[in-house]
Amino acid sequence: MVKIIRYFFIGLLVVNCAEKQNSTKHVFFAGEIVNPTSDQVVLYKGEKSIDSVKLDENNRFVFTLDSVAEGLHHFYHHPELQYVFLENGDSLQIRLNTSDFDESLVFSGKGEEINNFLLEMFLANEEEEDLVYSLYKLEPESFHQKIDSLLQNKIQLLEQTMTEFEISPKAYELAKAGIVYNANISMEAYPFYHRRRSGEDNMHDLPEDFYDYRASINYNNDALTYLRPYYNFMKYHLGNLAYNQCKNNCGSSLEVVSRQLHFNKHKLKLIDSLITQEELRDNLFRNVAIDYLLKHDTEEHNIDFIAAFQELSKNNRHNKEINTLYQGIINMQPSKSLPQLTLTNYAGNEIMLSGIDKGKEVVFYFWSAAEPGHFRNIMKRVEELKLKRPEYRFVGISLRTDQARWKSMVETYNLDKNEQYWANDFDKAARALIVYNPNKSIIAKDGIIIDAFANIYRSF
Ligand SMILES: [Zn+2]
Repeated sequence: MVKIIRYFFIGLLVVNCAEKQNSTKHVFFAGEIVNPTSDQVVLYKGEKSIDSVKLDENNRFVFTLDSVAEGLHHFYHHPELQYVFLENGDSLQIRLNTSDFDESLVFSGKGEEINNFLLEMFLANEEEEDLVYSLYKLEPESFHQKIDSLLQNKIQLLEQTMTEFEISPKAYELAKAGIVYNANISMEAYPFYHRRRSGEDNMHDLPEDFYDYRASINYNNDALTYLRPYYNFMKYHLGNLAYNQCKNNCGSSLEVVSRQLHFNKHKLKLIDSLITQEELRDNLFRNVAIDYLLKHDTEEHNIDFIAAFQELSKNNRHNKEINTLYQGIINMQPSKSLPQLTLTNYAGNEIMLSGIDKGKEVVFYFWSAAEPGHFRNIMKRVEELKLKRPEYRFVGISLRTDQARWKSMVETYNLDKNEQYWANDFDKAARALIVYNPNKSIIAKDGIIIDAFANIYRSF
């Protein structure tokens, strides 16, 4: 009902605008999705969804917008996400096949040049990954040269595209930033990867001009906040700065046990001092927090970290997510009770997670019908473990699978019906049990946690 009212309302607005203003601001974004994996397409500007539309019977969708905040957008067709650069007056069509999402995507119509160019760069970066990785073994001067020539080739391609088509200054700036920051990711990563690849004990000395590009980093450009190369550059750059800051100021006496906490606090302080653009700042703070919390440091360290986080990142737009994760991790420490979570057994009865077994140590592991490769591997691993570690009982919990599908998989693969449970609200279950890693497992006895962050491959 709410939806109908909203569309009706928007419909009225469109008519009004068309009468009063010139209609060239209108943006039309439509397309066809071959082999759809969902029934809708959602359009985002940053993290805000600005509209969503259903596919019609021919798997086509249409967005008609009065105007847009010009710049980088994303469209989402579960589970994939891709860029679309929109300017007022654009009339853009896409075609894509979900079995080969990015590679099959083609833009046509007004606005196609910049979008096809961005896509081409996205694919080129993916293709270059192996090449760039092989370059890390080079000495810094030759490495710098190679990265620079990859960069210059792309800039040339951009300049050539500029002469052939009409591309706005905004679009040009975005495309150029994507190329430049992508190259500089490799420069920031170089000292670390070089040490690993060369087997050297220490960080290689770098020529004085190695980081010259740092003079032109823009830390506060909101047009770039959601551009992947820019965001990823910031992550590598902050990691590099944090490492050096620590090395130069904190000495080597640092205890290994608190290294993670200490290093991540450096990162928090760097974000605080360098970045003022609010969304970028919040996103980078969030990245450090999630990354750190999932490393399963001690409870004491977690408390220390979250206090530092809250002091520097007040009113972070991701606070709810981060606090939920933090609270979840605190609740999942050894000797605490398993979370209050209801699961369904094969007979269809609801059972509390904590009541699943008494008197024997249980290993909970997770699987989903949506990931068949993972399902096969984990079942094979569990069979091995049952023989190797008979002191444990192994219990599977199925997430992201509908109930009928789950039952039929239990039948088809001949799984032990007494050892398989199904989570109705899989989001709630994944959050409560902190299943970020598909190979995680939880060891418990009589409803009390022994290790909530075990790994089915490495912990046994
Ligand atoms: Zn330090």
